[in-house]
Amino acid sequence: MDVNRQRLRRDIEENAAFGATDAESGRGRTVLAGTEANREARDRFVDRCTDAGLEVSVDAVGNVAATWFPENADPEAAPVATGSHLDSVPEGGIFDGPLGVYGALEAVRTLQESDLERSLERPVTVVSFTEEEGTRFGGGMFGSSVATGRRSVDDALAATDGDGIAVEDALESIGYRGEGILDAGAWDAFLELHVEQDTRLEERGVPVGIVTTITGIAHATAEFVGEANHAGATGMDERTDALAAASEFVLDLETRGREHAAAGEGTAVATVGKSRVHPNATNVVPGRVELGVDVRDVEYDTMEAILETATTSLERLEAERSVETGFEREIDVEPAPMDRRCRNALERAGAEAGIDTLELHSGAAHDAMRVSRVTDAGMLFAPSEDGLSHTPLEWTDWEDCATATRVLAGALANLAVADES
Ligand SMILES: [Zn+2]
Repeated sequence: MDVNRQRLRRDIEENAAFGATDAESGRGRTVLAGTEANREARDRFVDRCTDAGLEVSVDAVGNVAATWFPENADPEAAPVATGSHLDSVPEGGIFDGPLGVYGALEAVRTLQESDLERSLERPVTVVSFTEEEGTRFGGGMFGSSVATGRRSVDDALAATDGDGIAVEDALESIGYRGEGILDAGAWDAFLELHVEQDTRLEERGVPVGIVTTITGIAHATAEFVGEANHAGATGMDERTDALAAASEFVLDLETRGREHAAAGEGTAVATVGKSRVHPNATNVVPGRVELGVDVRDVEYDTMEAILETATTSLERLEAERSVETGFEREIDVEPAPMDRRCRNALERAGAEAGIDTLELHSGAAHDAMRVSRVTDAGMLFAPSEDGLSHTPLEWTDWEDCATATRVLAGALANLAVADES
């Protein structure tokens, strides 16, 4: 079974022309959902699927699904699905998303050309989800949230961009406001191929990563209220400095993050990435500070433990520095373990093809995270050069793209045999 590397490369390169940006080095593209560049990318994808004999449908929020019915497959059997997204962040790279979409299509074409086709008992569906990046309409994993029943169609269609344009109108204007809802829960299994966006595969010299878990993510705002006062006239014993207190909190959280990372497998991370200081003047003792807290890990218990120490730190600072504090959790997403059956299918495919694989976790969220809540899901990674992503410098070697696609094709074949367990 041979992946056609040139065909895959041509697909990704031609897709890269839509929304292409002038980058000083590398190759950038800006493809936001519901824009002209997005229409061109979608049109071409639909054409390529039709060329390969797939049956294409578009749902109400623009998710595109293209299904192949192998010769001996039961057309009514739950399909094995695979795919990713075609949208990008502003000035993003050409592989984040498209590798998973066109790798999925190439995997299907590879199976069509192999003698494995006759043994496949399930249909295979290639998917392109609407707006994974969340750049225009916000939220992220937009299309997969609807396909997994997490978000209602009406709510999704009513969402607006910064100019007040609704999703419904944006999709209508590019001809991708379809019918019905893609139901990910009806799939037998789902696999997503993606670039790693990290350096672990490159460092180990392994061409394919098999994802164990996609990390959970919690966001919270910590607030510190002291007393704004004259920086010159207020003595050191007379002030309640909200920023000085907040600074101790930042260090407490970092220490706790480091401890948990060292105690576990290094997957836990804790960050204060945002601060707002009031009134934010050099000659005023800060009266109020808000901090944005981001905590992630593959174990929800660890995330909880880190967030709990954040609360302990606030209590200490109230006692020692007389500030008032508040702590509000805004985003709380549990880690998404990848399904054992999907991981086995990927491992077996690698072993059968003589391709080395490495188990690793994903620190970034992907559509597979949503899909894993409603059916068996798995992910595989191709190496990212220097770990760069969301930049025109993002790069994955064409050979590595083909190698990962070869593993994807093998895993799809393993899963599309109905009695595979
Ligand atoms: Zn992506």
